[in-house]
Amino acid sequence: MNGLMMDVPATITSIMQFAERVHPTGEVVSVTADNPRHRYTYAEAFRRTRKLANALQTYDLARGDRIATLAWNDYRHFELYYAVSCAGMVCHTINPRLFAEQIDYIVNHAEDQLLFIDPMFVPLVESLQSKLTSVKAYIVLADAAHMPDTTLPGAVSYEALIEPHSDTYDWPVLEETTASALCYTSGTTGNPKGVLYNHRATVLHAYASSMPDAFGIGRNDVVLPIVPMFHVNAWGVPYSAVMAGTKLVFPGPKMGDGATLARLINEEGVNISAGVPTVWLALLNYLNESGERVDCLDRIVVGGAACPLSIMEQFEDRYGVYTHAAWGMTEMSPLGTFNSRLDRKALGEQEYARLRLKAGRPIYGVEMKIVDDANKPLPWDGVAFGALKVRGPWICSEYFKLENSEAHDDEGWFDTGDVATIDPDGNMQITDRSKDVIKSGGEWISSIDLENTAVGHPAVEEAAVIGVYHPKWTERPLLVVVKKDGADLTREDMLAWFDGKVASWWVPNDVVFVDSLPHTATGKLSKKDIRQQLADYSFP
Ligand code: ADP
Repeated sequence: MNGLMMDVPATITSIMQFAERVHPTGEVVSVTADNPRHRYTYAEAFRRTRKLANALQTYDLARGDRIATLAWNDYRHFELYYAVSCAGMVCHTINPRLFAEQIDYIVNHAEDQLLFIDPMFVPLVESLQSKLTSVKAYIVLADAAHMPDTTLPGAVSYEALIEPHSDTYDWPVLEETTASALCYTSGTTGNPKGVLYNHRATVLHAYASSMPDAFGIGRNDVVLPIVPMFHVNAWGVPYSAVMAGTKLVFPGPKMGDGATLARLINEEGVNISAGVPTVWLALLNYLNESGERVDCLDRIVVGGAACPLSIMEQFEDRYGVYTHAAWGMTEMSPLGTFNSRLDRKALGEQEYARLRLKAGRPIYGVEMKIVDDANKPLPWDGVAFGALKVRGPWICSEYFKLENSEAHDDEGWFDTGDVATIDPDGNMQITDRSKDVIKSGGEWISSIDLENTAVGHPAVEEAAVIGVYHPKWTERPLLVVVKKDGADLTREDMLAWFDGKVASWWVPNDVVFVDSLPHTATGKLSKKDIRQQLADYSFP
């Protein structure tokens, strides 16, 4: 027997319409290339979203068509999120930091019909334009006055595009399973793969990720998503914040600039922010050097990669900012687990530090298990580590337009490619990517643990650990270190630092000092490139 409840679809349109009704005065503040501080209300944002939806109708487009963006976090990108998805099309956010060939591949694979571009990416798109055969029109995210000279055929400014159109628009009633957005994983091997989100997954993810033990975003908060809108929909913040009526602050192209971030945080009263570890390092370095403070900032969410303990400690002890680790991935919309606030006093310093490094408990909606090589479940004892698998309504079932690309096993579990331990109380810790784990004499060593320990050294700016061939142990850890400016650090000092901090057989066999480490398009250490750079290395 079915229950007798209304069948109202859970759509992104419903988030927008709710916010317009209930939170019309909610604020959206942006830094853009042409305006250091643009601000307006949700009511104005969604009025312009309707103008944009009308403008989209002037192109020959069909439901389900992909409309692409190459853009930073700002209000025009926000309008595109809603106009495109709520009109029944798919908002395809492209990471501008990808290699040009990857962007070309992605646009063609997605068959993008329109391309909305930030002015600074115009030269990049011009260099690719002859290969972008599906694209019917190029729209530059600027007003007419800030329109760059361009060879892109028929390029128009965003403001000129939407200006003549009416601000009334009848949003279609969509089924909740309608595709809404598309994001390609950066593809550490092979071509990038597209993850196609739908309205229902987005709404459920927005609910779950705003629970108190996750982002906990409410009407009185001011949130700064530094994580780009092209990196898994800015971790869902542009949906969860709108649901709650939260003030949104978008950093535009200035997301890696500590000085601009500090100013934005202080002037807009930001109390929650989210981003990958490298942006926090940039902000921290700026604060440490300038002596500035960010007293309104209460907590930051750090995901996409393991957050070194030294970042967490400096933020809390010097600036009173709490750091939450969160784990997820493009295929998971992205949030899977969240490390909620811990009681430092009750736990004591050592236990507090140990528990902070975990990725946290799954948010309701995400099922999780760890398995061995034979796919047999491993115990949740905090010791056994195995392949981490997940299942849930906002997790990808197959990749976009890839034949036989089912992303799950026969029982419906998605293999994350991560290796993890799980405590009896569900607290998960990523020990590695399966391809980065170091297999020493049949035992596994976590490269993440070693990196975390290394960056705890006051003279270390950044560190990576890779497995290198060893005649006796098959593989042993090699530590690659970027020293802090002017720091004096020897190989021996560095290795001695591990004494008593990790098991003695985990201590790296050697240290290589480098000027900088390569990063991926989403700001993470690129182990693939590090391995390539050190391909000729062998242990002494
Ligand atoms: P990319 O950034 O490469 O496009 P994703 O953002 O989807 O792809 O990356 C997901 C991966 O990032 C996870 O599978 C995991 O390996 C890593 N990751 C994410 N969060 C954490 C975390 N808190 N700790 C460790 N690793 C993490």
